[in-house]
Amino acid sequence: MPNHKQRRDKLRRLVREAEAEAILVTSYDNVTYLTGFTGDSSYLLLTCDGQIVLSDRRYTTQLETECPNIDLEIRGPEMTMLDSVAKVVRKAKLGSLAIEASNVTLEFSQKLAEKLPKVNLVTTSGLVEQLREIKDKDELAEIREAITIAERAFAVVKAGLRPEQTEKQVADELERQVRLFGGECTAFWPIVGVGPNGALPHYRPGGVKIGESFMVLVDWGAKAKLYLSDLTRIIVTGKAPAKLERVYNVVLKAQKKAIGAIRPGAIMEDVDAAARKVITDAGFGKQFGHSLGHGFGLQIHEQPRLAVNQKRTLEPGMVVTVEPGIYLPGTFGVRIEDDILVTKDGHEVLSHVPKEYADCVIA
Ligand code: ZN
Ligand code: ZN
Repeated sequence: MPNHKQRRDKLRRLVREAEAEAILVTSYDNVTYLTGFTGDSSYLLLTCDGQIVLSDRRYTTQLETECPNIDLEIRGPEMTMLDSVAKVVRKAKLGSLAIEASNVTLEFSQKLAEKLPKVNLVTTSGLVEQLREIKDKDELAEIREAITIAERAFAVVKAGLRPEQTEKQVADELERQVRLFGGECTAFWPIVGVGPNGALPHYRPGGVKIGESFMVLVDWGAKAKLYLSDLTRIIVTGKAPAKLERVYNVVLKAQKKAIGAIRPGAIMEDVDAAARKVITDAGFGKQFGHSLGHGFGLQIHEQPRLAVNQKRTLEPGMVVTVEPGIYLPGTFGVRIEDDILVTKDGHEVLSHVPKEYADCVIA
């Protein structure tokens, strides 16, 4: 059972440091993280000694089941969320209230200020996200599960790949296999890019057939119950130019180099630089146009980021992707993405899809 109480207590410390008496958590993922409630449309008011979820009648039963130890403020259809928030804040007699700047609209915060003229609204940014960077053992167990599901789904799709399948059909098949292996769904709509489409990092799968080129790039993940995974591999499906293997091995070398640099205390931008140097030295610096990796968990892109200008250090419990790429517009693209846990004394590669060039070739 995830320790939601411990998470809330950690947040209380951060709220105190931000000089607020309480925080209104409006990000649904953050509410889930702090309470275990998996629905949406609900906020959490966390005070120094209390926790109240504000929701509406659709969710009463689910809330009572998923977070029985939390007070509820259930509003009827005659009341807005804003009024409900104002009501509980007044009742708690708060002099100050932190709000999540990156999750409320300007309109909401202005209206809240009008409704609560005596309450000092403190703008905070990323307090819960900061806690979510470090995964606890329950989160790690589910991330491992999300990776296993994604890997099994990919193995089936790869083994059954046919020249007449379109990119979209491959993406649909990944979705189906993820569900068959016990996942909720894919972590995001998979990227399946045949040939030159693999050079578009955020391509949406369309009607191009596998047989129309010599390779396909697949970027996919699974959602276990709540937590996600994120992987990328290429599959060589036909007679490829020699350049593909050359480029692939540069990306693989860059990825291994960066993974090798992951340990507690390593500076995030240095890990990015480790991969970037290998690619730049090989003459493809300009063709690696994105950052190296990102945290993930409840969302597919979370803090931290392995990127230029990220001066913070890695800490045990962080989980990041490492995904260097080389994209040759109009020709092909190669990206290799794995999921890495920062451990006490180094790192653990959580994903295990074989990735030597020969492993990618099915032609
Ligand atoms: Zn990805
Ligand atoms: Zn990614």
